[in-house]
Amino acid sequence: MPELPEVETTVKGLQSKVLTRTFVDVWSDWKKVAKKPKDFKLFKKQLKGKKIIKVWRRAKNVIFDLSDGYSLLIHMKMTGHLMVGVWKLEHAIWNPEKPGPLAEKINTFIHLLFTLDNGKMIALSDMRKFAKTELWKTDELLNSPEFKNLGPEPMDRSFTLVEFKKALKGRRGKVKQVIMIPEVIAGIGNIYSSEALWWAKIHPQKDVSKLSDKELKRLYDAIKKVLAAGIKLGGESFADYRNIDGKKGDFDDERKVYKREKEKCPRCKTPIVRLKFGGRSAFFCPACQQL
Ligand SMILES: [Zn+2]
Repeated sequence: MPELPEVETTVKGLQSKVLTRTFVDVWSDWKKVAKKPKDFKLFKKQLKGKKIIKVWRRAKNVIFDLSDGYSLLIHMKMTGHLMVGVWKLEHAIWNPEKPGPLAEKINTFIHLLFTLDNGKMIALSDMRKFAKTELWKTDELLNSPEFKNLGPEPMDRSFTLVEFKKALKGRRGKVKQVIMIPEVIAGIGNIYSSEALWWAKIHPQKDVSKLSDKELKRLYDAIKKVLAAGIKLGGESFADYRNIDGKKGDFDDERKVYKREKEKCPRCKTPIVRLKFGGRSAFFCPACQQL
C-alpha cells in the first residue's frame, strides 16, 4: 500500500505535469470508485470544466484544489496508483499510446481515467479496486472530521520531538500499531514503521507507553530518516506502487527488514524475523530489537 513517500512522489509528479490544466472528461468502468457524490454521472458533471490550481498531500490522500472552490481527493488505498500519459480505448481496454513503462502489466488495471484540456490523461491503475475518489467543496473538506482528526505530518517542520511525544501521550498498545494509526501520525504504514523501528532498535510489540525518552528520541529520528529516504528514492515498488510515469521507486534496495524474513540483519547478522499481529506482519531483528 502506498505510504507517505509514495503518495508524496505521486504528488510531486502531478505537480510537474497537470497544474493549470482543466478536466474535460472522466471515464470509469467501476462506478463505485466515486464516493462523493456517489452518483458517477453527477461526479462527472461537477468535475468537468474545473481547473487544477494546486496538487498537495495530506496523510495518504492526493488532493487537487480546483477552480470554483472545489477539491478532488483521491486515496490510492491498497493497489492503486496514478499515472499521467495518453491512452486509447481499444476493445474496452485502455492502451498507452506509446510502448514503455505505462504498458507494464501492473499499470494496465485502469478503472478511472480523467482527460485534461491538453489531451493528457490522469489514469488510476488499481488491480484490486479499493481506491476512492471524492469531490468536495474545499472548505468542507478541510473542516470534515476525517480531515481534522488526522495526526500531524511527520515531515513538516512543525513536527518536533515535543509534538511527537504529544501525539503518543496517553496512548497504549504495541508501538508498531500505534504509529500506524492515521490519527496519531499521518502517512506511516507497514513498510516505514518496520524500517523505523529497526533503525530505532525498538521491538515492534513494545508498549508505546513504556518507551523511554531515549527510545522516543531514536524513534522520532528514525521515522524522519526513513520517510526522507523514501521520498528521496521515489518510494518503494515492492508490490504495486509505480510513479506517475509508471516507473518503480528505488527504496526497495534501501529496506533493512521489510519483507527480508530470514535474511541477515545488516547490523548484527541475526536472521530477520516476521511476526504477525493485529492483522499485519512486522519484520524485525530479534537481537537488535528486544522487548
Ligand atoms: Zn540485528
